[in-house]
Amino acid sequence: MIIDLRSDTVTRPTAAMHEAIAKSEVGDDVYGDDPTVNRLEDLAAKMMGKESSLFVSSGTQSNLLALLSHCERGDEYIVGQQAHTYKYEGGGAAVLGSIQPQPLDFEADGRLDLNKVAEAVKVDDIHFAKTRLLCLENTQGGKVLPLDYLKEASDFAKERGLAIHLDGARAFNAAVKLNVPITEISQHFDSVSICLSKGLGAPVGSVLNGSEELIRKARRWRKMLGGGMRQAGILAAAGIVALEQQVKPLAEDHKNAELLGSLLLEMNEFSVDPVQTNMVFATPVKGDSAALAEYLKENNILITGSKTVRFVTHHDVSQEAIYTVVEKIRHYYSSSS
Ligand SMILES: *Cc1c(COP(=O)(O)O)cnc(C)c1O
Repeated sequence: MIIDLRSDTVTRPTAAMHEAIAKSEVGDDVYGDDPTVNRLEDLAAKMMGKESSLFVSSGTQSNLLALLSHCERGDEYIVGQQAHTYKYEGGGAAVLGSIQPQPLDFEADGRLDLNKVAEAVKVDDIHFAKTRLLCLENTQGGKVLPLDYLKEASDFAKERGLAIHLDGARAFNAAVKLNVPITEISQHFDSVSICLSKGLGAPVGSVLNGSEELIRKARRWRKMLGGGMRQAGILAAAGIVALEQQVKPLAEDHKNAELLGSLLLEMNEFSVDPVQTNMVFATPVKGDSAALAEYLKENNILITGSKTVRFVTHHDVSQEAIYTVVEKIRHYYSSSS
């Protein structure tokens, strides 16, 4: 069996998801007729404390729809230099929305410094794009943003007349880590994107959550982008199971990541970033990690990273698998040094 630590996107649907998929009632969702999609959207909106929700193909599409719905041509969004929404989404907002990004470096803890954001907000002047939106990411590289910071960011946005969006691909990891309902996070944002297909284990899909008006706009953009899916209930069925059953078990992923982090640290071969959720970042003290990755691959263990290794735990990685991984890494260093 392969132990795949490259990402939590590699999770396979659970048995309950397979069952829900097999039994799913479907209809044409473009007509609004798919009862299972409607049920997922109602459930997501309720959980997030938002008026409305939209089931979409991916986190990338969800963030893009949020940007297109908040901003117009010539508007600007402020975003992390290393944020998924800026760096890893093909420049979609610029390509498809004529929306200008204003990237700023994240602080070490994943926040955007609001003083720096304030400096980046443009005044009303014909030389400038119109700053419209602030985007945060939570978790950011596995790090949880503090709740009081979210409140400050939200107050700041309101004061400045900006909308505020959360790329909450892994926001449930943050909520589980803080042991709070997800609404403690989502309440501070006009829109929140959630990935169902990462740690929550659904095969496909994300949900964008926000006001009825925003989601109406997003639904129109989704259709234009070719994202209007027909009997999508077959996918939404797994999404419902993801939200109902797979949130709590994220705590196990966090425990396993913490275990892995502490065992790697004990080896004295890596510097290891403090582990907060389901990601472990470990940098070999000597050399890079290419040969280690190769060795592990020969032993059916998959990791990513050329210098710093990112290990991501998820529901298809057991505690036993963590011990196996650590044993192999120990063996690698004892035989290579
Ligand atoms: C994975 C991810 C996305 C995008 O999700 P896809 O479904 O892969 O398009 C967006 N933001 C963050 C922070 C992510 O980790």
